[in-house]
Amino acid sequence: MREGLTIDEAESLILAATPRLGAETISTAEAAGRILAESIESTRRHPPADCSAMDGYAVRRADLEITSAGNPTSLPVVYEVPAGGHAERPLEAGEAARIFTGAPLPPGADAVVRQEDTRPGEGRVEILVAPEPREHVRDGGEDFEIGDRLIDTGVVLGSTHLGVLASIGRTIVSVRQRPTVAILSSGDELVEPDRPADSGQIVSSNSYTLAAACREIGAQPSYLGIAGDRPEEIENRLRAGLRANVIVSSAGVSVGDHDHVRAVLEKIGCKLQFWGVRMKPGYPLAFGVIESSGALVFGLPGNPVSAAVSFEEFVRPALRKMMGHRALYRPVVRARLTEKLTKRAGRVHFVRVSLETRDAELFATPTGNQSSGILTSMIRGNGLAVIAAESEILEVGSQVDVQILDSNFFDQTERGF
Ligand code: AMP
Ligand code: MG
Repeated sequence: MREGLTIDEAESLILAATPRLGAETISTAEAAGRILAESIESTRRHPPADCSAMDGYAVRRADLEITSAGNPTSLPVVYEVPAGGHAERPLEAGEAARIFTGAPLPPGADAVVRQEDTRPGEGRVEILVAPEPREHVRDGGEDFEIGDRLIDTGVVLGSTHLGVLASIGRTIVSVRQRPTVAILSSGDELVEPDRPADSGQIVSSNSYTLAAACREIGAQPSYLGIAGDRPEEIENRLRAGLRANVIVSSAGVSVGDHDHVRAVLEKIGCKLQFWGVRMKPGYPLAFGVIESSGALVFGLPGNPVSAAVSFEEFVRPALRKMMGHRALYRPVVRARLTEKLTKRAGRVHFVRVSLETRDAELFATPTGNQSSGILTSMIRGNGLAVIAAESEILEVGSQVDVQILDSNFFDQTERGF
């Protein structure tokens, strides 16, 4: 097993072992956010026929060559075409038909005059404006024709995709399956958040963080509970997760006397591929594959920030790959540091920062104590500044890459236009 990998090396091994899951058919109404697993061709035409874009009168343009407000043309209104109805017969020369938005254009008509450009009379209408050819007419098939390619496979379905699917009568659709993720916490010191904890104990928060991070991207977490630091206990709980696509444990993967997770993983058929990534927080990451099923196993470090950052950098892209996403990564922006940063060379540092825009430029301010136990350093910020392994000193004003963790970051308090 390899040890002490770079982030790139670790990620390549993980993604190489990550399969794309199969497809499943679900109700289109439930498909927002899912990844389309088929390409959608139109089985219908929209609009199905030429139709009116306005409430007004269907006319034959040739009847209205010399029409103007000063010289209106009076036409008999021979019938009405309601929305959802049909013309009772073709429109003849010298005739107008009352028509409403969405109603099919009568055969013979070639334009629609808006109601506002007419003066109604008894059984007749005075046209005040000569229409352009096909003015206020929506062409049949102008949105799509039968056989048009409408949505490509791999697209992340948004609300209007569902609308397009609905408009061709597709009430079910094939999408990529959502990975199941079994989450285990481990450590004798841990207690569940709803239990009393004495001063020697630590409230387990990682399962909440990790389950929510899974749900945020549409993966399906299940919880295996807390295993004490005994191999049999860890094994029993891990075995309950063997049917999941991904197992994520936290803690117990370091080199301490009570760190049994790696040994247990090997015992239950997990081939470990590496241990340790040259980053901070998050060095003690173990990754392997359950040989019988191909399930991925991530042994994340236990410290809450390390677990969250390791999930971000390694588990999240893998889950997104499984789900068929083409874009695996968070957005990265360049920002200027508002504080000097110093570190030791050797590992990439992920510094929690809060990003703000001033005069159209982005600034990144570290969120205080960066210890990997201080989970509030995550909630005070909205991004991770990525400081290269070899960097030692970054002066105020230096440009850094910042990975944006807050998916609402680009939302605005002002409309902006
Ligand atoms: P370990 O990797 O087992 O040495 O754990 C590192 C640190 O992370 C210890 O201080 C643990 O108490 C803490 N820790 C481990 N698991 C959790 C958890 N589920 N929630 C919160 N903190 C944890
Ligand atoms: Mg422990």
